[in-house]
Amino acid sequence: MKWKIPYIDLGEQFKKHKTELVSEFERIMNNGDFILRNDVKKFEENMADYLRVKHVIGVNSGTDALYLSTEALGIGHGNEVITTAHSFVATLASITRMGAKPVFVDICDDFNMGVEKVEEKITERTKAIMPVHLNGRACKMSVLDELARKYNILIIEDAAQALGAEYLGKKVGSYGKVGCFSLHPLKSLSCAGDGGFISTNDDKLAEKLRILRDHGQKIKEEFLCFGYNSRLDNLQAAILNVKLRGLEENINRKRAIARRYNEELSLTPLVLPPAPSNGDHFDTYNSYVIRSENRDELYKYLRVSGIEVFMHMAKPLYNYPGLNLDKTRLPMNEKICREVLSLPIYPEMNEEQISYVINSLHKFFRK
Ligand SMILES: *Cc1c(COP(=O)(O)O)cnc(C)c1O
Repeated sequence: MKWKIPYIDLGEQFKKHKTELVSEFERIMNNGDFILRNDVKKFEENMADYLRVKHVIGVNSGTDALYLSTEALGIGHGNEVITTAHSFVATLASITRMGAKPVFVDICDDFNMGVEKVEEKITERTKAIMPVHLNGRACKMSVLDELARKYNILIIEDAAQALGAEYLGKKVGSYGKVGCFSLHPLKSLSCAGDGGFISTNDDKLAEKLRILRDHGQKIKEEFLCFGYNSRLDNLQAAILNVKLRGLEENINRKRAIARRYNEELSLTPLVLPPAPSNGDHFDTYNSYVIRSENRDELYKYLRVSGIEVFMHMAKPLYNYPGLNLDKTRLPMNEKICREVLSLPIYPEMNEEQISYVINSLHKFFRK
């Protein structure tokens, strides 16, 4: 089906950078520069500058960014990691794969971890807190920072959805021991397939992560440990270096679209995401997620109207039997799962398309 308004339009995005990207492709294909070459190094430097951190390590995916981080930090059997059940499955996989146990706190109405409920979950087994900056909005990091210091525990930020987001003037990914980012096509900055990276200010940890992503080698054929093949491709890095220059503009465009949604939908029965602010929260709107008590009906209505909407994370992760997580009940998490609907939001969306989405929502409630 050809959507009247697709959820995201990567073809339009390509058009903007076509000349530059095609010439980068030719350069790299001609030189055969594919694995850990200069474009990866440049991307890591560019991204470290952007986030204002000491180190960025390019890896295969956001999932690998999380796996390598939990492994490098020694998260393992007997450890607990405090996190949220309202996230993508990879967040929890990076904890359980290392043999540790995720401990859940309920979320708030901005979809993020209720930070004031974290302290009561801390035990002597707690090794880390893993906040997820969902939909491009930062968690309240000041509270977590304080807890991490007080109890001497680590913070691992799952910032996969929140590149560029800030809390109190500091970018996400620069608060914790590590920040884990994804470059998947549905994220604010994306390459041509899978990709990810890790940010940290810790020199030793950065070196360990570089070794882990490249088969345990620091120097070729000198294996210091068993590692992984989890390198960010040089071709992907070159694409990212071009697209990174347009990131801020794209984020600002998405914030402008969110502002229109917030203003023009304010009189509907919908619960809208918190308004963007420049003071405490600088949101990037990786997704624009509305809540409705008639969610299932609204979902069908909008799709029939040609608008590609999604019910992302419509079930708490502890309710998937195959994941074998402890049974629990988190009332806000469950309520939000029943109500969420993600609307199209992408920089290339024009005013007419935004109006069509807004008018369709008004029509639904006038029926
Ligand atoms: C996308 C995402 C990931 C995983 O990233 P990939 O690059 O797809 O592996 C992890 N956590 C969250 C919250 C995500 O949204």
